[in-house]
Amino acid sequence: MSKFSFRWLAWLACLPLTAVAAGADPAAARKLHFDAVVIDTHDDTTQRLLDPAFDLGVRHADGSIDIPRMREGGLDAIFFSIWIPGTTTGKEAVGKALQQIEAVKRQVAAHPQDLELVTTAAGIRRAAAAGRIAVLLGVEGGHMIDNDLANLRRFHELGVRYMTLTHSVNVDWADSSTDTPKNAGLSDFGREVVREMNRLGMMVDVSHVSDATFDDVLAISTAPVIASHSSARAIARVPRNMNDRMIRALAAKDGVMHVNFHMAFLSQPYTTAIKADGKRIDNAINAQAEERCGTDEACLIMTGSQLARERVAAGRLPRVEWTEIVDHIIYAARLGGAAHVGLGSDFDGADMPYGMEDVTSLPKITAALLERGVSPEDVRGILGGNVLRVMEQVEAVAAKH
Ligand SMILES: [Zn+2]
Repeated sequence: MSKFSFRWLAWLACLPLTAVAAGADPAAARKLHFDAVVIDTHDDTTQRLLDPAFDLGVRHADGSIDIPRMREGGLDAIFFSIWIPGTTTGKEAVGKALQQIEAVKRQVAAHPQDLELVTTAAGIRRAAAAGRIAVLLGVEGGHMIDNDLANLRRFHELGVRYMTLTHSVNVDWADSSTDTPKNAGLSDFGREVVREMNRLGMMVDVSHVSDATFDDVLAISTAPVIASHSSARAIARVPRNMNDRMIRALAAKDGVMHVNFHMAFLSQPYTTAIKADGKRIDNAINAQAEERCGTDEACLIMTGSQLARERVAAGRLPRVEWTEIVDHIIYAARLGGAAHVGLGSDFDGADMPYGMEDVTSLPKITAALLERGVSPEDVRGILGGNVLRVMEQVEAVAAKH
């Protein structure tokens, strides 16, 4: 165990325990969860929606998200990620993004009793009050604007309310955390993109971007920003996660970091094991999935998860429990404040930990947070209140333009 691990365990140990009694009452935890506005800021289910035969309205035996399971998990609002690999660029990237937006809208149109496309914080509250799940759109990767602000404006018009500036490779105007630095952060055009997002009222998402890009965004944005799906680097040392300084800086700007549930971002032993021996296990899983799926992204993601779990069962990878999500939430809350943490599962786009196979398990997070001494008010914020506040602030900044 590294000194990093000791340090965060010490953090967890010194949490106040005043709310233990409330947390010990499962009925109270359940009531809080189902009363709260619960928002997940990052889901990759869109890849499945590209298959015209896929119906979000029925319960599926595979994957993590569908309407019946969102109901069971008490999820009130979901940001569907519009995502294509960063290596697909140009007009093709714009076109594919538009197809995915259409695919999400088709599901909303097919299920008007259950789903409502919304674009504002008030819209989320309204839909939740009416018993419908609010559907929102986030574009994951600035490559999809094809270096043209007109495409950004078009996405906004179509309802997109955040854009993750990069995916796992650099874009021409912003560096990714998992690529070789090219722009030392944001280029001049990258700064323009952030300013235009502020003007339009679109949240800037710093998940995936390099530390230098993160710093540039924080220096420029006139509105709070989000990390739609990022965990804590002090616990799992991957560049995709946020270090302590970034967590504090994001909070100081009144932003929200939404904890990602992906096993490799939650657990250092897991991430060490999967990348050991020159990434042998990682590469083998990818090769095996590609053999089975070709370029079908939904298939690649689900097959990859299944293969990872087979290796856990065989003892080749360590098991990661869902409670590690709670560790990251509490760690980030202690650093930056509970008002600056949220949930960004990465369901249907990543390898879920044991006990968080799908959205029906979300109430367990609420119960665990209460049990570990987080106040009911702070839990409501983490579940969705915090990002609603950011959306309102982003909307207010845009209204001033
Ligand atoms: Zn992502």
